[in-house]
Amino acid sequence: MVFKDVIKKLAVSVTVAGVLLTPLFANAAKVEYKWKMVTTWPKNFPGLGTGANDLAKLIGEMSNGRIQVKVYGAKELVGALEVFDAVSRGTAEMGHGAGYYWKGKVPAGQFFAAVPFGLTAQEMNSWIYSGGGLALWQEAYAPFGIIPMPAGNTGVQMGGWFNKEINSLNDLKGLKMRIPGLGGEVLKRAGGTPVLLPGGEIFPALQSGAIDATEWVGPYNDMAFGLHKAAKFYYYSGWHEPGTTLEALVNKKAFEKLPKDLQAIVLNATRVANANMLAEYTARNNAALGRLVKEHKVDLRPYPAEVLEQLKALSEQVVEEEAQKDAMSKKVYASYKAFRDQAVDWHELSEQSYLNARNPQ
Ligand code: CA
Repeated sequence: MVFKDVIKKLAVSVTVAGVLLTPLFANAAKVEYKWKMVTTWPKNFPGLGTGANDLAKLIGEMSNGRIQVKVYGAKELVGALEVFDAVSRGTAEMGHGAGYYWKGKVPAGQFFAAVPFGLTAQEMNSWIYSGGGLALWQEAYAPFGIIPMPAGNTGVQMGGWFNKEINSLNDLKGLKMRIPGLGGEVLKRAGGTPVLLPGGEIFPALQSGAIDATEWVGPYNDMAFGLHKAAKFYYYSGWHEPGTTLEALVNKKAFEKLPKDLQAIVLNATRVANANMLAEYTARNNAALGRLVKEHKVDLRPYPAEVLEQLKALSEQVVEEEAQKDAMSKKVYASYKAFRDQAVDWHELSEQSYLNARNPQ
């Protein structure tokens, strides 16, 4: 009996049994939508680039192949920092990046990426999904025809790579450091010069001395770029990026062309990708840190408490001032701040008090 006949015979018996036949023999559906996703990350870069790949794969699997998303690394279709514009004009239906990379276009966007001494990953998700953040984020990007969604989180980042010790705030004076967003504005207030570079350009800039110092993400990602080969001291903690949210950008017209079920799939795939990325960073950072210290002899240092206190005071001034520069930032920051105040109160009794009990100093 040939295969076709087996199927026919089986089909008859299954139909007779009154069972819904279709799912048993369904193949992947026909591709109905072919989308491009441009990203700020080097292609397949661990955590960030693979997070974008994960999102594209999830959309494909959840839609049974009806939406096919092809991922482009930085410079494959557009430059790392051109992702926002490319999605806005429809060159690509989707993008993957972080809100502080386009702060020149949408200053309010940086509050949805990272705020110095601001919300942690858990708190960012809580503000965005359950504290009114998402609606404000959508409002901020609406004039550009873009729908934003959280699509990953790094957790608390590392403070950065330096070739000299940081013993006082004075040591940051005159320092040319790669550091994006609001953290960069704080460095400027401390007398340093912030430089905005996409990830792929950091190592050569640090090695050639074009920049004196850099931050990137954390041990897992920093080791992948080989930053330990270009700087001696590795400082913590990442006061400037306490739980950075990565974002998926969707062109509004492309999104509205989708039927409701596929719209729900795109939205929910970003939720899964968002959780997956944080899980990956949490799982891999500590092992990578061990290798940096043991194999690569990196000099790991905490920022002196006094330096962090001073940076915190400067951050409060800078963030407050930046938030007053345009109406949307003002509105977003009011929501962020109110949420932070209540999260801080609750987390003092919950997360913080538990961590103190678990890991007494
Ligand atoms: Ca960073």
